[in-house]
Amino acid sequence: MAHAMPAPPLRERLAVIATLLGPLPHAKLDTEIGASGAKKSGVRMLKAECGAACGYTIRILPKWARVGLPLCPVNPAHGALVCDIPDDANDVAAVLQENAVAETPIVIPPNE
Ligand SMILES: [Zn+2]
Repeated sequence: MAHAMPAPPLRERLAVIATLLGPLPHAKLDTEIGASGAKKSGVRMLKAECGAACGYTIRILPKWARVGLPLCPVNPAHGALVCDIPDDANDVAAVLQENAVAETPIVIPPNE
């Protein structure tokens, strides 16, 4: 596959930006987990689908499914999408914890 490499000015600029960003605020990637997927995400997406025969389907977080399901975008007359929402409160706690991670704005200096 052909690909373009950054020219020296861009490489220098990217090096400055990488220095300003510092280390990646993330756990080390676990490359031992393969396609078999031994480890699953803490939050499970739910399948919501149109109750009519149009076949419209989306994936939605339990948190948002509890807030309310959207109307079918194919035809609003089909009504709200249908979804089996579990009563498990752990998924809500996981979403809240996920959203609690502080986001620090990154300021990139202007190009000189
Ligand atoms: Zn529909």
